[in-house]
Amino acid sequence: MPRVVCEPCIGCKSGDCVSVCPVECFHETPEMLVIDPHACIDCGLCATVCPSRAIFSDEDVPERWQDYIEKNVDLARRWPNIREIGKPKTDRRAG
Ligand code: SF4
Ligand code: SF4
Repeated sequence: MPRVVCEPCIGCKSGDCVSVCPVECFHETPEMLVIDPHACIDCGLCATVCPSRAIFSDEDVPERWQDYIEKNVDLARRWPNIREIGKPKTDRRAG
């Protein structure tokens, strides 16, 4: 079961979650981070360090944030995969 980033992430961008993820499955949108569910191995590390408690297993997402399951899928397709906040892995501006 992949993890899902929900509403409490909006505006955080601390990146604590990104730095502990062993498989680099976070993507950065202008307002929040999301997880690519196809890349997530469900290790749970990101959820333990998230200060906002924004990350849930997809089966435990609270009712009011159910739409974030699909949002993570959709936004991960459209926004860059990152290793650190503000540093897309495919950033062609570098170099
Ligand atoms: S630590 Fe939590 S709230 Fe902060 S960017 Fe990561 S998922 Fe979002
Ligand atoms: S559960 Fe593990 S693999 Fe999935 S996003 Fe969090 S740190 Fe990465």
